[in-house]
Amino acid sequence: MIRATNLMPNTSINHHLTNFSWGLGYGAVAGITNYFLAFEIYGSVTLLFGQMFVFLALFTRGLFAALVAALMASAAVYLYTDNIFFFVTLVSEVVAVYFLFRRNVPILLADLIYWVMFGLPASYLYLPTIIDIPTNFLILILAKLILNGLLYTALAILLFQLVPRSWRTVPMRPVSDSLTGRIFYLSFLCIIISSLSFSFLYTVRSAQQVEQQIVSDIAAKANSLREVTEDFVSDYVVAVRNLRDSMQSLSSYDEQLELMELTQRNYPSFVSMLRADADGRILHGVPSQHFGEVLSQYPTLPDVDDRNYFRVPKETLTGFVSSAFRGRGFGTQPIIAISEPLLANGEFTGIVEGSLDVPELTRLVRRTDIDPRYQSVVVTDDDNQVIFASEELDLVTLANFTPRNLLNLYTQNLPLTRLEGRDLLYTERLNSFGWNIYVFSSPDELTELFTENLVILVIFLILIAGLFALVTRRFAGEITRPLESLAEQLNQDTNMPLDIEQSEMSQEVRTIADSLISARKLMVNFNRQLQSQVQEKTADLEILNAKLQKLAREDGLTELLNRRTFDDLAEQRFHEAMATRKHVALILMDIDHFKRINDTMGHPVGDECIRSVGVLLKDHFERIGGLAGRYGGEEFAVFVSEVDDLRKLAESFQDALATYCQVNGQVIPLSMSMGIIEVRHNFSGGSFRRLVAQADKLLYQSKDSGRNRVSIETL
Ligand code: GH3
Ligand code: MG
Ligand code: MG
Repeated sequence: MIRATNLMPNTSINHHLTNFSWGLGYGAVAGITNYFLAFEIYGSVTLLFGQMFVFLALFTRGLFAALVAALMASAAVYLYTDNIFFFVTLVSEVVAVYFLFRRNVPILLADLIYWVMFGLPASYLYLPTIIDIPTNFLILILAKLILNGLLYTALAILLFQLVPRSWRTVPMRPVSDSLTGRIFYLSFLCIIISSLSFSFLYTVRSAQQVEQQIVSDIAAKANSLREVTEDFVSDYVVAVRNLRDSMQSLSSYDEQLELMELTQRNYPSFVSMLRADADGRILHGVPSQHFGEVLSQYPTLPDVDDRNYFRVPKETLTGFVSSAFRGRGFGTQPIIAISEPLLANGEFTGIVEGSLDVPELTRLVRRTDIDPRYQSVVVTDDDNQVIFASEELDLVTLANFTPRNLLNLYTQNLPLTRLEGRDLLYTERLNSFGWNIYVFSSPDELTELFTENLVILVIFLILIAGLFALVTRRFAGEITRPLESLAEQLNQDTNMPLDIEQSEMSQEVRTIADSLISARKLMVNFNRQLQSQVQEKTADLEILNAKLQKLAREDGLTELLNRRTFDDLAEQRFHEAMATRKHVALILMDIDHFKRINDTMGHPVGDECIRSVGVLLKDHFERIGGLAGRYGGEEFAVFVSEVDDLRKLAESFQDALATYCQVNGQVIPLSMSMGIIEVRHNFSGGSFRRLVAQADKLLYQSKDSGRNRVSIETL
């Protein structure tokens, strides 16, 4: 049969294709998350939560799938940032974490190492080339990048615990072998995630509040400045208009002059006032003393017919407020000219003009409650010339000024510009004279807020990590300590009651302890049973063994030694005798005409006779310390030592045997022929074998000489 695997063209290509599809899947989720859930936290740098799914691809399907996903996730970021930089950071992050993890570095630490060693230095070098930001703000962005990285990595690790096992093909080792380590890691992940999330959310919220505060604060100040400047100029416009009206109604030139002087005194911000005729020739000016001095310097006064404050009233027959300019004649300070046409019967007869002192505005601005730490003001006229600027901005009066807008990473609610190298958020108002009122606010307030949050977060994380290290060690100890002491006690003595504080144990540990104890009891009982069974069996075996040994040593019918055992023991005794020079003797004997008994009375009777011979032999010879054995069918052997009268001994045996065997009450007469070889002196020449042969020979001598005889030879 062909197995399915054999039909697959190439498993390795299939494997890559599968991982590629998984990578596409994870990448799609990552890309969508990055694109639609891009959390704008601080200007244009966003929280890239999609990277979480890239890491999931790495943990479950390996590097190849993760790279596919990383490319898709970066592409989504590229779509709204137009920036290929994220391809570099996001893809290299995955590769770095993968290789560090292969070297047994915990993932979260691996990600931290990546950002510190590569991600941050690269961003630090790259970001200033695309956006112009001050260093302290750049550092904030970098801090946010690293926290962002840690957050989505931690989230990915936690999510991974929830991914079905069937989705995973990559074997993941637990981060630590010890329970303490694992509890610490998981709970620390939870803390990192919650604290980072809260900190981000809190930072976003408080940033929005501060932003709102800045926006409304500078808006209010700009509005009030607009009103103040407008009121200020309007007052002087009204003053000029009133003067003009009064002058028209007065016919006496001296009275007109007096009135002008009075007005100038009442409105001290008019550095000077003048009256010109219909051709723009100056007829008179106040303050008179000052006018006199000017007259003495210039033989003929310059005409004002080229000035807007003359030409506009002449042409339109309405009042005019000029842009700022430097005066001539009446001093050279920057002024704003306010003029009104003089009419007689509808005919233009000249103008009356007041020169408003521009520096006078400074006092006015100072009266508004601008916070000099963060805020500054610029007021420009309808020609964008600076009328007033806060000192720290270093702007020259009458210089042209329009703020140049920069890419704003701080907030999207206010435009950003840069003055004197400082980033400034600002708002702008236009008053009815065409003046621009700019109120600037430094984003330092925002930056400081973020820095403060960041420092608090880092301190909090360090503290919480320390606290968790302690707590988890203790917590894991609470699980392992009772178990360890339980194991130790179970090892030592099984009958002793357990000496563990019940309160120390959690319910789960107590259950385990109970199971262990009952398992242990079961095992001990079983052991005991086994032990007694073994003892019993051993005793049986010993008996059996003894029986076997006996069987091996003895002849079954007579319970005499069998031939082999007899030979061994007798030979041994013979050798001992050789050493001690004790005299010994070997007797071989054979029942006479035994065949006849079998033939006439049957084999069982023959057996019975052989058995009774055995009993008699034991009785006769073993009693005196001899060895008796069955040597063959009806042949026997006896080995005795230190017997002085062997013939007597043999013959007494023969006598006893004659009537010894009784079967069913019937005496069966038996006779025995014997050959006895006695060794008394000459041990040197003989081996036991030769002894046997000699006894056998003697036995046959007894047979041959008529049976029931004893033949003895002494060596
Ligand atoms: P002899 O005086 O020459 O020894 O004559 P015999 O008949 O005793 O000698 P023989 O060797 O011719 O016969 C021995 C017989 O002993 C033959 C055998 O049937 C018998 N026999 C040997 N062992 C046993 C036994 O264990 N039981 C019985 N019933 N008979 C045995
Ligand atoms: Mg025989
Ligand atoms: Mg015989």
